Amino acid sequence: MKRSACPRVSWEDNIRRVEPYVPGEQPKDGEKVIKLNTNEMPYPPSPKVFEALKAFDAATLRLYPASDVGPLRDALADYYGFDHDEVFVGVGSDDVLATAFLTFFNSKKPVIFPDITYSFYDVWAEVYRIPYETKPLDEDFHMVKSDYMCENGGIVIANPNAPTGVSEMEDISFIEDIVSENPGSVVIVDEAYVDFGGISAIELTKKYENMLVVRTFSKSRAFAGMRIGFAVGNRKLIKYLNDVKYSINSYTMNRPAIELGIASLSDEEYFRETVEKTVETREWTKNELKERGFLVTDSKTNFLFASPSGISAKDMFLGLRQRGIYVRWWDKDRIRDWLRISVGTDEEMRSLIAAIDEIER
Ligand code: PMP
Repeated sequence: MKRSACPRVSWEDNIRRVEPYVPGEQPKDGEKVIKLNTNEMPYPPSPKVFEALKAFDAATLRLYPASDVGPLRDALADYYGFDHDEVFVGVGSDDVLATAFLTFFNSKKPVIFPDITYSFYDVWAEVYRIPYETKPLDEDFHMVKSDYMCENGGIVIANPNAPTGVSEMEDISFIEDIVSENPGSVVIVDEAYVDFGGISAIELTKKYENMLVVRTFSKSRAFAGMRIGFAVGNRKLIKYLNDVKYSINSYTMNRPAIELGIASLSDEEYFRETVEKTVETREWTKNELKERGFLVTDSKTNFLFASPSGISAKDMFLGLRQRGIYVRWWDKDRIRDWLRISVGTDEEMRSLIAAIDEIER
């Protein structure tokens, strides 16, 4: 039998092609390195999490988890002073942000975000075919407020920003002005690092219905391996997010994640202690780097953004790597001279400084 005269095409013509996000390098199992490249917490989660993990009844795994992530949403709502239906939970904040991009940025107008920011934003925009535009940060890596007062299909602000560590909320009106001037679009504020000294915009969600604040357990709660992220916002926004989530996968959060997440929230003292320790170590490291001629931003996060003197950032990155210390360097305009260094334990940071002193300049 003869085929109809369809034009010959390759199955590859129908592929959704994307340039994926590249996370920081993970050492192979058993490889001993000082890992300061993905902003993980150097301390374990709370002892209450260990207890909850021991007490976890594996027999319950045969049952689907609560599809509305009810118990964890309740615990988060109590913790932050919101209602259950003002909270959305996802598999890490990457999942929450991806769902928010898909839900809120459904217009032909470009979504806007800074030129230097979390490098996943343009990847989500590409994968969901969302038009976007970037606005340059100023010389000191601050956002220029007036750039965000134009017609747009949505706004994304990482605050504090990554990889710069810089916070915009020293001026408390900064985000409020952007949100109030843009009633026609949703403003997403990504507060992945806010617990390390930034100022949160979470309360503004009670005043503005077009604003979503996204948070994660991965950093300050030492839960990167567990994958819990959440968002707080007006109940209408949260309902729209849930509608999209239920159109893709109803059961995103597994039972252990829900139980251990609740256990983590129950130990405020440990949370504060480990966050404060990380901030103290950050400030110590920052001074040591400055003494060695590095330029260092005023980070409000669990990482430092630093530019070495007398050696390129790339050579410093390679020199550290050779000595078993992983940090992050991007071959990208404007930040090619900079390194992002996660804050580890005091001992790890002393090894970092010793290695920097060894590297010839
Ligand atoms: N937002 C920012 C600014 C980040 O740096 C990260 C970490 N890579 C995330 C969100 C996502 O973190 P997670 O998915 O682990 O919650």
